[in-house]
Amino acid sequence: MSNSLVLVINSGSSSLKFALIDTVSGEATLSGLGECFGMPEAVVSWKIDGEKHEHALDAEGNHHQQAVDRIVVLLEELGMKQDIVAIGHRVVHGGEKFTKTVKIDESVLEEIDSLSDLAPLHNPAHVIGMRAAMAAFPSLSQYAVFDTAFHQTMPAKAYTGAISQKLYTDYGIRRYGFHGTSHYYVSREAAKVVNKPVEESNFISVHLGNGASVCAIKNGKSVDTSMGFTPLAGLMMGTRCGDLDPSIIEFLLKKGWSQQEVFDELNKKSGLLGVSGLTSDCRGIIEAMENGHEGATLAFELFCYRVAKYIGSYMVALDELDAIIFTAGIGENSLPIRSKILENLKIFGYREDEEGNAAARFGNAGVITKPNTPVAMVIPTNEEWVIAKESMELLHA
Ligand code: ADP
Repeated sequence: MSNSLVLVINSGSSSLKFALIDTVSGEATLSGLGECFGMPEAVVSWKIDGEKHEHALDAEGNHHQQAVDRIVVLLEELGMKQDIVAIGHRVVHGGEKFTKTVKIDESVLEEIDSLSDLAPLHNPAHVIGMRAAMAAFPSLSQYAVFDTAFHQTMPAKAYTGAISQKLYTDYGIRRYGFHGTSHYYVSREAAKVVNKPVEESNFISVHLGNGASVCAIKNGKSVDTSMGFTPLAGLMMGTRCGDLDPSIIEFLLKKGWSQQEVFDELNKKSGLLGVSGLTSDCRGIIEAMENGHEGATLAFELFCYRVAKYIGSYMVALDELDAIIFTAGIGENSLPIRSKILENLKIFGYREDEEGNAAARFGNAGVITKPNTPVAMVIPTNEEWVIAKESMELLHA
């Protein structure tokens, strides 16, 4: 284990996730979560051998720093601190500036902060987490891995909005795309399954978690993706609306809604939650649908129809297709969702293999379509692993 551990940090505005990744075995040797930052009940928790441990943070003060300092103490107690060689940070938005993983220094911190306009909920929180980690681990190199970076290969026709180009040059309004680390990872794993070099493989990758996006991958590179200027665009998600006629925003404002109310409605009260009137959790939707709940049934139908529509439209972005890849919480686990999406794609020849679909769950990869029909497969994603591996590679570069 020695000299192979990378601490992966995903710092949000009120939370901080961490995982200690062994870059030789690929295993997460420790993982945990700091949450409720800014509130009296702020806490850090972690699991060792399946057992949960908790440490309450002081009610006052910088909770990001307190959480990182507690992680340092924990690592010392576990005798792991000296084996950590680098720290990798997940960053949501790298704009057009960051096309790959970079070593963090003062100028990178400033650049990430300067992109806060594009990701106001995420980038400032990342910078706070990075500064806390730099204070706690002053001798270690730290790296930033961007959700947007994989999509920087999109051609202009895919990333340009059909709007005046002044909006792009003045404000940077364009499609950036997110979930890049996940789409990157599953496409590399899928290339092994279809036994092709990545540079010659073509996929449509479908990341279905609380956030959801589709990515067209041509010769190993992202050429289009459904999230846009922000992660609100594209598919219907747990609580986000996805694609929507922009006039609806003006309409609601004229009806007296405040800007904040419209923002909250589309980001936090829409998607599976809004349509079902019940829950944003896919498991709850399926259960309620099986009990005949109308809202849940409509949410399920809408979700699967929209995913299939995106997959269909991304056939246009590719000359060939080796496989559709399903990943993330819903994509890796929900048999009815995958089954319905494949049914919606029958015009393209997709035929579900029920046994294959049933077997590919709970962390198991597998092909879920019948032999001699177009291929769809499940590949469990592993964003922490990519962040750890890229950090390690740059460290040794
Ligand atoms: P996030 O975007 O927050 O990382 P995840 O990738 O963890 O989200 O996905 C969360 C979604 O996955 C939830 O809708 C949850 O219901 C769904 N999910 C998790 N496990 C299962 C399961 N066994 N069956 C169906 N859906 C599942």
